[in-house]
Amino acid sequence: MESWKVLAVSSSKKRIEKIRVEALMADIYEQIQQWAQEAGASHVRRIDRTQLKTFDYVRAYCVANACGYYGRCWTCPPNLGEPEELTAELQSFAGGAVIQNITKIEDSWDFEGMEAARRAHNQMMRSLARQVTAEHPGHRVLALGGGACGYCETCTCPDAPCRAPEQAIAAVEGYGLDVKLLVESCGLSYVNGQNTVSYVGAVLVD
Ligand code: SF4
Repeated sequence: MESWKVLAVSSSKKRIEKIRVEALMADIYEQIQQWAQEAGASHVRRIDRTQLKTFDYVRAYCVANACGYYGRCWTCPPNLGEPEELTAELQSFAGGAVIQNITKIEDSWDFEGMEAARRAHNQMMRSLARQVTAEHPGHRVLALGGGACGYCETCTCPDAPCRAPEQAIAAVEGYGLDVKLLVESCGLSYVNGQNTVSYVGAVLVD
């Protein structure tokens, strides 16, 4: 075959493969959306990798340790990895879904209500990732939650290995994503009214 014909066939095959992958990602997103809605998620939006932008200042917030989990949770910085590695990992996914959960709390001092909402939110992200993995075993899946892992009452870090690595979940912020920019890039609000707490997670697929 003449070389220009070989190139034309190869480029056409690439186009077909791209269309096939895009159609598959759209199907997977619709499934995540349905499962998340059935589980009671407040909002679900499709994202692609162009929205997975990381920022050094987000890592700086982690280092400032206002939450107290820096170095105290196996899925938080610095244990999670170097910022460049995390950015590369995010960029290796085609896209997925952003899920936001808005929960009523008694008032801005209701730390118990906030913590319960965060753990429930992260549990939803774990379940969604498990559903995608079960339905699409050939695909890589990454679930991201809000804040520290929260699977165990107290994280074993740094004194002993993780108790349940298959349940461990990192935070959207831990990967260097700016939660506010991420939700706003999906047309969602970062804050959602008085006496509410909003948590954001993601399920990424490749
Ligand atoms: S599963 Fe438990 S030990 Fe492992 S990171 Fe999560 S909270 Fe820590």
